[in-house]
Amino acid sequence: MPETATAAGTATAAPAALSESDFETVIGLEIHVQLKTRAKVFAPVPYLYGGALPDDAAPADITPNTLVDPTVLALPGALPVLNRAALEQSIRFGLLVGADIPETTNWDRKNYFYPDSTKAYQLSQKDHPVTIGGEVEIELPGPARNIMGEHKIIRLNHAHLEEDVGKLTHAGAGSLVDYNRAGAPLLEIVTEPDLRSPDEAVALLNALRMLLTAAGVSDCDMEKGQMRCDANVSVRPRGQTALNTRCEMKNLNSISGVKNAIEYEARRQIREVLAGREIHQETRGWNAETGRTYPLRSKEEAHDYRYFPDPDLLPVKTTAGDIERLRATLPERPYDRQRRYQADIAAGGFALPFTVTSVFIPDRELCEYFEAAVAAGSGTAAGTTANPLTIANLVANDLLGALAGATDYNRLPPAHLAALARLTDAGTISKAQAKEVFAEMFTTGDAPDAIVERRGLRQNSDTGEIETIVRDVLATPAGTAAAEQFRAGNEKALNSLKGPIMKASKGKANPKVVDDILRRLLAA
Ligand code: ADP
Ligand code: MG
Repeated sequence: MPETATAAGTATAAPAALSESDFETVIGLEIHVQLKTRAKVFAPVPYLYGGALPDDAAPADITPNTLVDPTVLALPGALPVLNRAALEQSIRFGLLVGADIPETTNWDRKNYFYPDSTKAYQLSQKDHPVTIGGEVEIELPGPARNIMGEHKIIRLNHAHLEEDVGKLTHAGAGSLVDYNRAGAPLLEIVTEPDLRSPDEAVALLNALRMLLTAAGVSDCDMEKGQMRCDANVSVRPRGQTALNTRCEMKNLNSISGVKNAIEYEARRQIREVLAGREIHQETRGWNAETGRTYPLRSKEEAHDYRYFPDPDLLPVKTTAGDIERLRATLPERPYDRQRRYQADIAAGGFALPFTVTSVFIPDRELCEYFEAAVAAGSGTAAGTTANPLTIANLVANDLLGALAGATDYNRLPPAHLAALARLTDAGTISKAQAKEVFAEMFTTGDAPDAIVERRGLRQNSDTGEIETIVRDVLATPAGTAAAEQFRAGNEKALNSLKGPIMKASKGKANPKVVDDILRRLLAA
Protein backbone atom coordinates (compact mmCIF):
# COMPACT_ATOMS: atom_id res chain seq x y z
CA MET A 1 0.00 0.00 0.00
CA PRO A 2 2.54 2.65 0.88
CA GLU A 3 3.36 4.82 -2.08
CA THR A 4 6.94 4.33 -3.07
CA ALA A 5 7.04 7.04 -5.69
CA THR A 6 8.84 9.34 -3.32
CA ALA A 7 12.08 7.38 -3.15
CA ALA A 8 13.72 9.47 -5.82
CA GLY A 9 11.89 12.51 -4.64
CA THR A 10 14.57 15.03 -3.94
CA ALA A 11 13.22 18.44 -4.75
CA THR A 12 14.09 19.66 -8.20
CA ALA A 13 16.57 22.51 -8.06
CA ALA A 14 14.58 25.56 -9.00
CA PRO A 15 15.27 27.19 -12.32
CA ALA A 16 15.83 30.89 -11.67
CA ALA A 17 12.57 31.86 -13.38
CA LEU A 18 10.29 30.11 -10.83
CA SER A 19 8.46 32.10 -8.20
CA GLU A 20 6.20 31.07 -5.31
CA SER A 21 3.06 31.05 -7.41
CA ASP A 22 4.55 28.52 -9.85
CA PHE A 23 4.32 25.79 -7.21
CA GLU A 24 1.48 23.56 -6.24
CA THR A 25 1.01 21.87 -2.89
CA VAL A 26 0.50 18.10 -2.73
CA ILE A 27 -1.13 16.71 0.39
CA GLY A 28 -1.99 13.24 1.65
CA LEU A 29 -3.75 12.83 4.99
CA GLU A 30 -3.68 10.05 7.55
CA ILE A 31 -6.79 10.47 9.67
CA HIS A 32 -7.39 8.62 12.93
CA VAL A 33 -11.00 8.33 13.96
CA GLN A 34 -12.18 6.76 17.17
CA LEU A 35 -14.84 4.18 16.39
CA LYS A 36 -18.19 4.29 18.12
CA THR A 37 -18.20 1.04 20.04
CA ARG A 38 -19.02 0.19 23.61
CA ALA A 39 -15.72 -1.43 24.44
CA LYS A 40 -12.06 -1.27 23.55
CA VAL A 41 -10.84 -3.01 20.43
CA PHE A 42 -9.05 -6.04 21.95
CA ALA A 43 -10.42 -6.09 25.51
CA PRO A 44 -13.95 -6.11 26.98
CA VAL A 45 -13.31 -2.86 28.84
CA PRO A 46 -16.05 -0.25 28.48
CA TYR A 47 -14.71 2.77 26.78
CA LEU A 48 -16.85 5.52 25.42
CA TYR A 49 -20.27 4.81 24.05
CA GLY A 50 -22.95 3.46 26.33
CA GLY A 51 -21.99 0.54 28.55
CA ALA A 52 -20.74 1.01 32.04
CA LEU A 53 -19.59 4.62 31.95
CA PRO A 54 -21.73 6.95 34.02
CA ASP A 55 -24.13 9.05 31.93
CA ASP A 56 -22.43 11.92 30.16
CA ALA A 57 -19.00 10.88 31.38
CA ALA A 58 -16.21 11.38 28.89
CA PRO A 59 -13.11 9.22 29.28
CA ALA A 60 -11.28 12.37 30.33
CA ASP A 61 -13.61 12.69 33.33
CA ILE A 62 -12.84 9.19 34.56
CA THR A 63 -10.16 8.57 37.17
CA PRO A 64 -6.91 7.75 35.35
CA ASN A 65 -6.01 4.09 34.88
CA THR A 66 -9.43 2.70 35.82
CA LEU A 67 -10.64 1.78 32.31
CA VAL A 68 -8.13 -1.03 32.14
CA ASP A 69 -7.91 -4.80 32.50
CA PRO A 70 -5.07 -7.32 32.32
CA THR A 71 -5.01 -7.16 28.51
CA VAL A 72 -4.84 -3.37 28.37
CA LEU A 73 -2.09 -3.43 31.00
CA ALA A 74 -0.29 -6.30 29.20
CA LEU A 75 -0.07 -8.44 32.31
CA PRO A 76 1.58 -11.80 31.64
CA GLY A 77 -0.77 -14.33 30.10
CA ALA A 78 -3.48 -11.86 29.14
CA LEU A 79 -4.68 -12.34 25.57
CA PRO A 80 -6.39 -9.93 23.19
CA VAL A 81 -9.79 -10.77 21.69
CA LEU A 82 -11.07 -8.78 18.73
CA ASN A 83 -14.17 -6.68 19.39
CA ARG A 84 -16.53 -7.64 16.57
CA ALA A 85 -18.23 -4.22 16.69
CA ALA A 86 -14.95 -2.43 15.94
CA LEU A 87 -14.37 -4.62 12.89
CA GLU A 88 -17.94 -4.10 11.73
CA GLN A 89 -17.70 -0.34 12.07
CA SER A 90 -14.49 -0.43 9.99
CA ILE A 91 -16.18 -2.50 7.29
CA ARG A 92 -19.20 -0.17 7.31
CA PHE A 93 -16.81 2.72 6.71
CA GLY A 94 -15.24 0.82 3.81
CA LEU A 95 -18.63 0.16 2.24
CA LEU A 96 -19.60 3.83 2.59
CA VAL A 97 -16.56 4.91 0.58
CA GLY A 98 -16.79 2.09 -1.96
CA ALA A 99 -13.59 0.39 -0.77
CA ASP A 100 -12.72 -3.26 -1.30
CA ILE A 101 -13.22 -5.39 1.78
CA PRO A 102 -10.63 -8.16 1.53
CA GLU A 103 -11.84 -11.56 2.61
CA THR A 104 -9.04 -11.86 5.17
CA THR A 105 -7.59 -9.24 7.43
CA ASN A 106 -5.05 -9.56 10.24
CA TRP A 107 -3.16 -7.60 12.87
CA ASP A 108 0.53 -6.86 13.20
CA ARG A 109 2.69 -5.76 16.06
CA LYS A 110 4.27 -2.37 15.52
CA ASN A 111 7.18 -2.52 17.92
CA TYR A 112 8.55 0.50 19.71
CA PHE A 113 9.52 1.39 23.25
CA TYR A 114 7.72 4.31 24.83
CA PRO A 115 5.66 4.54 28.02
CA ASP A 116 2.42 5.29 26.16
CA SER A 117 2.28 1.56 25.40
CA THR A 118 2.25 -1.10 28.09
CA LYS A 119 3.29 -3.84 25.68
CA ALA A 120 6.13 -2.08 23.85
CA TYR A 121 4.13 -2.60 20.67
CA GLN A 122 0.91 -1.30 19.19
CA LEU A 123 -1.57 -3.68 17.59
CA SER A 124 -2.05 -2.33 14.09
CA GLN A 125 -2.38 -3.60 10.53
CA LYS A 126 0.30 -3.43 7.90
CA ASP A 127 -0.13 -5.71 4.89
CA HIS A 128 -3.75 -6.83 5.21
CA PRO A 129 -5.82 -3.83 6.30
CA VAL A 130 -9.57 -4.07 6.70
CA THR A 131 -10.39 -1.84 3.70
CA ILE A 132 -8.48 -1.10 0.50
CA GLY A 133 -9.06 1.85 -1.84
CA GLY A 134 -12.31 3.76 -1.98
CA GLU A 135 -13.14 7.39 -2.62
CA VAL A 136 -14.48 10.35 -0.72
CA GLU A 137 -16.42 13.16 -2.40
CA ILE A 138 -15.46 16.60 -1.11
CA GLU A 139 -16.88 20.05 -1.64
CA LEU A 140 -14.52 23.00 -2.03
CA PRO A 141 -15.55 26.35 -0.61
CA GLY A 142 -17.91 28.08 -3.07
CA PRO A 143 -17.38 31.61 -4.42
CA ALA A 144 -19.81 32.80 -1.71
CA ARG A 145 -21.37 31.20 1.33
CA ASN A 146 -24.71 30.75 -0.39
CA ILE A 147 -23.31 29.11 -3.51
CA MET A 148 -22.37 25.44 -3.76
CA GLY A 149 -18.67 24.87 -4.31
CA GLU A 150 -17.03 22.53 -6.79
CA HIS A 151 -17.10 18.83 -5.92
CA LYS A 152 -14.08 16.62 -6.31
CA ILE A 153 -13.20 12.97 -5.66
CA ILE A 154 -10.29 12.11 -3.34
CA ARG A 155 -9.00 8.55 -3.56
CA LEU A 156 -8.24 6.57 -0.45
CA ASN A 157 -5.31 4.21 -0.20
CA HIS A 158 -6.69 2.04 2.59
CA ALA A 159 -7.97 2.13 6.17
CA HIS A 160 -6.67 -0.01 9.00
CA LEU A 161 -8.01 -0.85 12.44
CA GLU A 162 -5.63 -0.36 15.34
CA GLU A 163 -5.58 0.39 19.03
CA ASP A 164 -5.03 3.80 20.56
CA VAL A 165 -2.20 4.24 23.04
CA GLY A 166 -2.08 5.76 26.53
CA LYS A 167 -1.86 9.43 27.27
CA LEU A 168 1.24 11.04 28.70
CA THR A 169 1.17 14.28 30.62
CA HIS A 170 4.54 15.87 31.11
CA ALA A 171 4.49 17.67 34.44
CA GLY A 172 7.51 19.26 36.04
CA ALA A 173 10.43 16.87 36.25
CA GLY A 174 8.32 13.76 35.62
CA SER A 175 5.58 12.46 33.39
CA LEU A 176 2.21 10.99 34.21
CA VAL A 177 0.68 8.18 32.23
CA ASP A 178 -2.98 7.28 31.86
CA TYR A 179 -3.93 4.03 30.10
CA ASN A 180 -7.67 4.74 30.00
CA ARG A 181 -7.42 5.57 26.31
CA ALA A 182 -5.05 2.67 25.55
CA GLY A 183 -6.83 0.12 23.42
CA ALA A 184 -9.59 2.43 22.23
CA PRO A 185 -10.53 1.44 18.66
CA LEU A 186 -9.00 3.68 16.01
CA LEU A 187 -9.55 3.52 12.30
CA GLU A 188 -6.65 5.07 10.41
CA ILE A 189 -7.85 6.34 7.03
CA VAL A 190 -5.04 7.01 4.55
CA THR A 191 -5.67 9.11 1.44
CA GLU A 192 -3.74 9.14 -1.79
CA PRO A 193 -1.77 12.38 -2.32
CA ASP A 194 -4.77 13.87 -4.19
CA LEU A 195 -5.31 17.03 -2.17
CA ARG A 196 -3.95 20.28 -3.58
CA SER A 197 -4.63 22.96 -0.99
CA PRO A 198 -5.29 23.47 2.73
CA ASP A 199 -8.95 24.12 1.82
CA GLU A 200 -9.16 20.72 0.14
CA ALA A 201 -7.68 19.06 3.22
CA VAL A 202 -10.28 20.76 5.41
CA ALA A 203 -13.01 19.79 2.94
CA LEU A 204 -11.91 16.15 3.19
CA LEU A 205 -12.12 16.22 6.98
CA ASN A 206 -15.57 17.78 6.79
CA ALA A 207 -16.75 15.24 4.22
CA LEU A 208 -15.44 12.36 6.34
CA ARG A 209 -17.08 13.77 9.43
CA MET A 210 -20.43 13.99 7.65
CA LEU A 211 -20.14 10.42 6.36
CA LEU A 212 -18.98 8.91 9.64
CA THR A 213 -21.44 10.70 11.88
CA ALA A 214 -24.32 9.92 9.51
CA ALA A 215 -23.42 6.23 9.69
CA GLY A 216 -22.72 6.28 13.44
CA VAL A 217 -19.20 5.00 12.78
CA SER A 218 -17.65 7.79 14.85
CA ASP A 219 -18.69 11.08 16.40
CA CYS A 220 -15.55 12.69 14.94
CA ASP A 221 -15.37 15.35 17.64
CA MET A 222 -11.91 16.83 17.20
CA GLU A 223 -12.07 18.60 20.55
CA LYS A 224 -12.49 15.24 22.23
CA GLY A 225 -9.68 13.72 20.21
CA GLN A 226 -12.08 11.49 18.27
CA MET A 227 -10.61 12.69 14.98
CA ARG A 228 -6.89 13.48 14.61
CA CYS A 229 -4.90 14.01 11.52
CA ASP A 230 -1.34 13.75 10.22
CA ALA A 231 -0.69 15.79 7.10
CA ASN A 232 1.95 14.84 4.51
CA VAL A 233 2.97 17.83 2.45
CA SER A 234 5.23 18.30 -0.54
CA VAL A 235 5.51 20.98 -3.18
CA ARG A 236 6.35 20.82 -6.88
CA PRO A 237 6.37 23.13 -9.88
CA ARG A 238 2.94 23.10 -11.54
CA GLY A 239 2.85 20.67 -14.43
CA GLN A 240 5.30 18.22 -12.84
CA THR A 241 3.70 14.81 -12.27
CA ALA A 242 6.37 13.13 -10.12
CA LEU A 243 5.99 13.55 -6.38
CA ASN A 244 8.66 15.41 -4.47
CA THR A 245 9.95 14.63 -1.00
CA ARG A 246 7.35 15.25 1.69
CA CYS A 247 7.30 16.15 5.34
CA GLU A 248 4.72 14.73 7.70
CA MET A 249 3.10 16.86 10.34
CA LYS A 250 1.87 14.86 13.30
CA ASN A 251 -1.22 15.15 15.46
CA LEU A 252 -3.11 18.06 14.06
CA ASN A 253 -6.17 18.11 16.23
CA SER A 254 -8.25 21.01 15.01
CA ILE A 255 -9.53 22.19 11.64
CA SER A 256 -7.65 25.46 11.92
CA GLY A 257 -4.51 23.53 12.92
CA VAL A 258 -4.73 21.43 9.76
CA LYS A 259 -5.29 24.46 7.57
CA ASN A 260 -2.63 26.68 9.10
CA ALA A 261 0.00 23.96 9.42
CA ILE A 262 -0.32 22.95 5.76
CA GLU A 263 -0.28 26.57 4.63
CA TYR A 264 2.85 27.33 6.64
CA GLU A 265 4.62 24.12 5.68
CA ALA A 266 3.99 24.53 1.95
CA ARG A 267 5.39 28.08 2.05
CA ARG A 268 8.40 26.91 4.01
CA GLN A 269 9.16 24.18 1.49
CA ILE A 270 8.70 26.52 -1.48
CA ARG A 271 11.11 29.01 0.07
CA GLU A 272 13.64 26.23 0.69
CA VAL A 273 13.41 25.04 -2.90
CA LEU A 274 13.63 28.57 -4.29
CA ALA A 275 16.73 29.12 -2.16
CA GLY A 276 18.25 26.05 -3.83
CA ARG A 277 18.07 23.85 -0.74
CA GLU A 278 16.82 20.29 -0.60
CA ILE A 279 13.76 19.12 1.32
CA HIS A 280 14.61 16.27 3.67
CA GLN A 281 11.92 13.80 4.57
CA GLU A 282 11.10 14.34 8.21
CA THR A 283 8.38 14.32 10.79
CA ARG A 284 7.43 17.77 11.99
CA GLY A 285 5.28 19.20 14.75
CA TRP A 286 2.91 22.16 14.61
CA ASN A 287 3.07 24.95 17.13
CA ALA A 288 -0.24 26.81 17.04
CA GLU A 289 1.18 29.57 19.25
CA THR A 290 4.01 30.51 16.92
CA GLY A 291 2.16 29.45 13.78
CA ARG A 292 5.15 27.39 12.64
CA THR A 293 6.06 23.78 12.02
CA TYR A 294 9.29 22.46 13.52
CA PRO A 295 11.38 19.30 13.02
CA LEU A 296 10.60 16.42 15.40
CA ARG A 297 12.67 13.61 13.95
CA SER A 298 13.93 12.32 10.67
CA LYS A 299 11.33 9.96 9.19
CA GLU A 300 11.18 6.50 10.64
CA GLU A 301 10.70 3.68 8.12
CA ALA A 302 8.35 0.74 8.40
CA HIS A 303 11.31 -1.58 9.00
CA ASP A 304 12.24 0.43 12.09
CA TYR A 305 9.12 -0.96 13.72
CA ARG A 306 9.92 -4.63 13.02
CA TYR A 307 6.31 -5.33 12.11
CA PHE A 308 5.22 -8.96 12.33
CA PRO A 309 1.81 -10.68 12.47
CA ASP A 310 0.51 -10.82 16.02
CA PRO A 311 0.60 -14.44 17.13
CA ASP A 312 -2.20 -13.93 19.68
CA LEU A 313 -4.79 -12.79 17.16
CA LEU A 314 -5.97 -15.05 14.35
CA PRO A 315 -6.64 -13.59 10.91
CA VAL A 316 -10.34 -12.80 10.49
CA LYS A 317 -12.50 -13.70 7.53
CA THR A 318 -15.39 -11.60 6.29
CA THR A 319 -18.08 -13.37 4.27
CA ALA A 320 -20.25 -11.97 1.48
CA GLY A 321 -23.18 -12.44 3.87
CA ASP A 322 -21.50 -10.26 6.52
CA ILE A 323 -20.94 -7.57 3.94
CA GLU A 324 -24.54 -7.57 2.74
CA ARG A 325 -25.83 -7.47 6.31
CA LEU A 326 -23.60 -4.48 7.10
CA ARG A 327 -24.36 -2.71 3.83
CA ALA A 328 -28.06 -2.77 4.76
CA THR A 329 -27.28 -0.67 7.86
CA LEU A 330 -25.77 2.24 5.92
CA PRO A 331 -27.46 5.61 5.44
CA GLU A 332 -27.67 7.57 2.21
CA ARG A 333 -24.41 9.44 1.64
CA PRO A 334 -24.73 13.11 2.66
CA TYR A 335 -23.86 14.64 -0.73
CA ASP A 336 -26.25 12.20 -2.45
CA ARG A 337 -28.93 13.30 -0.04
CA GLN A 338 -28.13 16.95 -0.77
CA ARG A 339 -28.48 16.40 -4.53
CA ARG A 340 -31.81 14.67 -3.94
CA TYR A 341 -33.11 17.55 -1.80
CA GLN A 342 -32.10 20.08 -4.47
CA ALA A 343 -33.54 18.10 -7.39
CA ASP A 344 -36.84 19.19 -8.93
CA ILE A 345 -40.04 17.81 -7.45
CA ALA A 346 -40.78 16.13 -10.79
CA ALA A 347 -37.46 14.28 -10.44
CA GLY A 348 -38.41 13.06 -6.96
CA GLY A 349 -36.61 15.88 -5.14
CA PHE A 350 -37.77 18.73 -2.93
CA ALA A 351 -36.46 21.67 -5.01
CA LEU A 352 -34.69 23.17 -1.99
CA PRO A 353 -32.02 25.87 -2.40
CA PHE A 354 -28.39 25.17 -1.50
CA THR A 355 -28.56 27.62 1.42
CA VAL A 356 -31.08 25.34 3.13
CA THR A 357 -29.64 21.94 2.16
CA SER A 358 -26.19 22.98 3.37
CA VAL A 359 -27.71 23.52 6.81
CA PHE A 360 -29.47 20.15 6.77
CA ILE A 361 -27.02 17.65 5.35
CA PRO A 362 -24.29 17.63 8.00
CA ASP A 363 -26.97 16.54 10.49
CA ARG A 364 -28.65 13.25 9.68
CA GLU A 365 -31.22 13.58 12.47
CA LEU A 366 -32.26 16.98 11.20
CA CYS A 367 -32.64 15.53 7.69
CA GLU A 368 -34.78 12.72 9.04
CA TYR A 369 -36.90 15.18 10.97
CA PHE A 370 -37.41 17.26 7.83
CA GLU A 371 -38.34 14.20 5.78
CA ALA A 372 -40.77 13.05 8.46
CA ALA A 373 -42.47 16.47 8.27
CA VAL A 374 -42.64 16.29 4.47
CA ALA A 375 -44.19 12.83 4.73
CA ALA A 376 -46.69 14.07 7.31
CA GLY A 377 -47.48 17.03 5.07
CA SER A 378 -48.30 15.03 1.97
CA GLY A 379 -52.05 14.75 2.30
CA THR A 380 -54.13 12.28 0.36
CA ALA A 381 -56.58 14.78 -1.14
CA ALA A 382 -55.25 16.89 -3.99
CA GLY A 383 -54.11 20.34 -2.97
CA THR A 384 -53.49 19.51 0.65
CA THR A 385 -49.83 18.65 0.25
CA ALA A 386 -47.54 21.01 2.13
CA ASN A 387 -44.79 22.51 0.01
CA PRO A 388 -41.44 20.97 1.06
CA LEU A 389 -39.84 24.40 0.74
CA THR A 390 -42.32 25.88 3.23
CA ILE A 391 -41.49 23.04 5.62
CA ALA A 392 -37.76 23.44 5.03
CA ASN A 393 -37.91 27.17 5.78
CA LEU A 394 -39.85 26.55 8.97
CA VAL A 395 -37.23 23.99 10.04
CA ALA A 396 -34.21 26.08 9.05
CA ASN A 397 -35.43 29.42 10.40
CA ASP A 398 -38.08 28.95 13.05
CA LEU A 399 -37.28 25.54 14.52
CA LEU A 400 -33.49 25.89 14.59
CA GLY A 401 -33.88 29.43 15.89
CA ALA A 402 -36.19 28.33 18.71
CA LEU A 403 -33.95 25.38 19.63
CA ALA A 404 -30.97 27.73 19.91
CA GLY A 405 -28.34 25.06 19.38
CA ALA A 406 -30.23 22.15 21.00
CA THR A 407 -30.90 19.14 18.77
CA ASP A 408 -34.02 17.56 20.22
CA TYR A 409 -35.90 18.29 17.01
CA ASN A 410 -38.73 15.88 17.74
CA ARG A 411 -39.74 18.01 20.68
CA LEU A 412 -41.94 19.60 18.00
CA PRO A 413 -43.90 16.78 16.31
CA PRO A 414 -43.11 16.80 12.56
CA ALA A 415 -46.87 16.55 11.86
CA HIS A 416 -47.45 19.88 13.63
CA LEU A 417 -44.79 21.55 11.54
CA ALA A 418 -46.35 20.11 8.38
CA ALA A 419 -49.80 21.30 9.45
CA LEU A 420 -48.45 24.83 9.95
CA ALA A 421 -46.88 24.73 6.48
CA ARG A 422 -50.24 23.72 5.02
CA LEU A 423 -51.99 26.61 6.73
CA THR A 424 -49.56 29.13 5.24
CA ASP A 425 -49.46 27.45 1.82
CA ALA A 426 -53.26 27.65 1.64
CA GLY A 427 -53.24 31.31 2.68
CA THR A 428 -55.34 30.51 5.74
CA ILE A 429 -52.85 32.45 7.85
CA SER A 430 -50.25 35.01 6.81
CA LYS A 431 -46.50 34.58 7.10
CA ALA A 432 -46.46 36.93 10.08
CA GLN A 433 -49.23 34.95 11.75
CA ALA A 434 -47.32 31.74 11.06
CA LYS A 435 -44.46 33.11 13.16
CA GLU A 436 -46.85 33.70 16.07
CA VAL A 437 -48.39 30.26 15.71
CA PHE A 438 -44.97 28.69 15.55
CA ALA A 439 -43.86 30.34 18.77
CA GLU A 440 -46.98 29.19 20.60
CA MET A 441 -46.85 25.71 19.11
CA PHE A 442 -43.22 25.37 20.18
CA THR A 443 -43.86 26.37 23.79
CA THR A 444 -47.24 24.68 24.35
CA GLY A 445 -46.92 21.63 22.11
CA ASP A 446 -50.44 22.30 20.78
CA ALA A 447 -51.41 21.63 17.15
CA PRO A 448 -51.35 24.74 14.92
CA ASP A 449 -55.03 24.43 13.91
CA ALA A 450 -56.07 24.59 17.55
CA ILE A 451 -53.90 27.68 18.09
CA VAL A 452 -55.32 29.41 15.01
CA GLU A 453 -58.90 28.76 16.21
CA ARG A 454 -58.17 29.77 19.79
CA ARG A 455 -56.56 33.05 18.83
CA GLY A 456 -58.92 33.82 15.96
CA LEU A 457 -55.96 34.16 13.65
CA ARG A 458 -57.62 32.92 10.53
CA GLN A 459 -56.73 35.22 7.67
CA ASN A 460 -59.72 37.09 6.28
CA SER A 461 -60.21 36.53 2.55
CA ASP A 462 -63.83 37.72 2.45
CA THR A 463 -63.71 40.17 -0.46
CA GLY A 464 -66.91 41.96 0.54
CA GLU A 465 -65.69 42.68 4.08
CA ILE A 466 -62.25 43.72 2.89
CA GLU A 467 -63.67 46.00 0.21
CA THR A 468 -65.64 47.88 2.84
CA ILE A 469 -62.46 48.46 4.85
CA VAL A 470 -60.55 49.56 1.75
CA ARG A 471 -63.24 52.05 0.78
CA ASP A 472 -63.25 53.49 4.32
CA VAL A 473 -59.51 54.02 4.25
CA LEU A 474 -59.62 55.58 0.78
CA ALA A 475 -62.21 58.04 2.07
CA THR A 476 -59.87 59.45 4.73
CA PRO A 477 -57.83 62.56 3.82
CA ALA A 478 -54.56 60.60 3.94
CA GLY A 479 -56.17 57.88 1.82
CA THR A 480 -57.36 60.33 -0.82
CA ALA A 481 -53.90 61.90 -1.02
CA ALA A 482 -52.20 58.51 -1.38
CA ALA A 483 -54.68 57.45 -4.05
CA GLU A 484 -53.88 60.58 -6.05
CA GLN A 485 -50.14 59.91 -5.81
CA PHE A 486 -50.66 56.34 -6.96
CA ARG A 487 -52.72 57.44 -9.93
CA ALA A 488 -49.93 59.90 -10.76
CA GLY A 489 -47.58 56.94 -11.12
CA ASN A 490 -46.12 56.58 -7.61
CA GLU A 491 -46.33 52.80 -7.07
CA LYS A 492 -45.08 53.13 -3.48
CA ALA A 493 -48.16 55.10 -2.47
CA LEU A 494 -50.04 51.78 -2.56
CA ASN A 495 -48.04 50.47 0.39
CA SER A 496 -48.88 53.51 2.50
CA LEU A 497 -52.54 52.56 2.02
CA LYS A 498 -52.02 48.94 3.02
CA GLY A 499 -50.79 49.75 6.54
CA PRO A 500 -54.07 51.38 7.69
CA ILE A 501 -56.11 48.69 5.89
CA MET A 502 -54.29 45.86 7.67
CA LYS A 503 -54.67 47.72 10.94
CA ALA A 504 -58.40 48.21 10.43
CA SER A 505 -58.72 44.47 9.72
CA LYS A 506 -56.80 43.70 12.92
CA GLY A 507 -54.03 42.19 10.81
CA LYS A 508 -56.30 39.50 9.38
CA ALA A 509 -56.93 40.75 5.86
CA ASN A 510 -55.35 38.53 3.22
CA PRO A 511 -52.64 40.81 1.73
CA LYS A 512 -53.20 39.38 -1.75
CA VAL A 513 -56.93 40.18 -1.62
CA VAL A 514 -56.19 43.68 -0.28
CA ASP A 515 -53.79 44.32 -3.14
CA ASP A 516 -56.29 43.10 -5.77
CA ILE A 517 -59.14 45.23 -4.42
CA LEU A 518 -56.97 48.35 -4.07
CA ARG A 519 -55.75 48.10 -7.63
CA ARG A 520 -59.26 47.50 -8.97
CA LEU A 521 -60.74 50.48 -7.09
CA LEU A 522 -57.88 52.82 -7.99
CA ALA A 523 -58.02 51.86 -11.66
CA ALA A 524 -61.73 52.76 -11.79
P1 ADP B 1 4.09 5.95 5.38
O1 ADP B 1 3.40 4.64 5.45
O2 ADP B 1 5.54 5.88 5.33
O3 ADP B 1 3.58 6.95 6.36
P2 ADP B 1 2.76 6.30 2.81
O4 ADP B 1 3.53 6.23 1.58
O5 ADP B 1 1.84 5.22 3.13
O6 ADP B 1 3.77 6.60 3.95
O7 ADP B 1 1.93 7.63 2.76
C1 ADP B 1 1.42 8.22 3.86
C2 ADP B 1 0.65 9.43 3.41
O8 ADP B 1 1.49 10.35 2.74
C3 ADP B 1 -0.45 9.12 2.42
O9 ADP B 1 -1.58 9.89 2.77
C4 ADP B 1 0.11 9.57 1.10
O10 ADP B 1 -0.91 10.01 0.24
C5 ADP B 1 0.97 10.74 1.50
N1 ADP B 1 2.07 11.00 0.59
C6 ADP B 1 2.94 10.10 0.08
N2 ADP B 1 3.85 10.73 -0.70
C7 ADP B 1 3.56 12.04 -0.68
C8 ADP B 1 4.14 13.21 -1.27
N3 ADP B 1 5.22 13.14 -2.02
N4 ADP B 1 3.55 14.39 -1.03
C9 ADP B 1 2.48 14.49 -0.25
N5 ADP B 1 1.90 13.45 0.35
C10 ADP B 1 2.43 12.22 0.15
MG1 MG C 1 2.43 7.41 8.09
